[in-house]
Amino acid sequence: MTDEDTIFHRIARREIPADIVYEDDEVFAFRDIAPQAPVHVLFVPKESVRTLDAMKPSQAQIVGKLAYAAAEYARKEGFAEDGYRVVINCNGHGGQTVFQLHLHLLAGAQLGRFGT
Ligand code: IMP
Repeated sequence: MTDEDTIFHRIARREIPADIVYEDDEVFAFRDIAPQAPVHVLFVPKESVRTLDAMKPSQAQIVGKLAYAAAEYARKEGFAEDGYRVVINCNGHGGQTVFQLHLHLLAGAQLGRFGT
């Protein structure tokens, strides 16, 4: 383990099990262990980025790759038209608990409004 290592790095290296539903050269995605909706999948870059706040300008396209992979997944799984939500939590007040950038994809039911 290095300072950069999180549970998501360990999932990427197949050191701990996860239900991986998508993978390409830059992104992988797996089902959240504590789902907050009928569909709850996390899209994670393979490059280490701690938080949205820590992204360098050269890394800005990573968020687009995560969002595109999530949209493709939603279309492929057939729930794009019904709709879904994507969320990136950043740092403490944002509720981030795993410090490797990730995008939540939530779907499969009418989602409530968000706030505090
Ligand atoms: P955050 O709160 O935005 O950082 O999201 C972290 C997410 O990772 C939470 O929704 C957790 O339920 C999820 N999570 C933590 N450990 C695991 C795991 O081992 N497998 C799958 N999801 C996990």
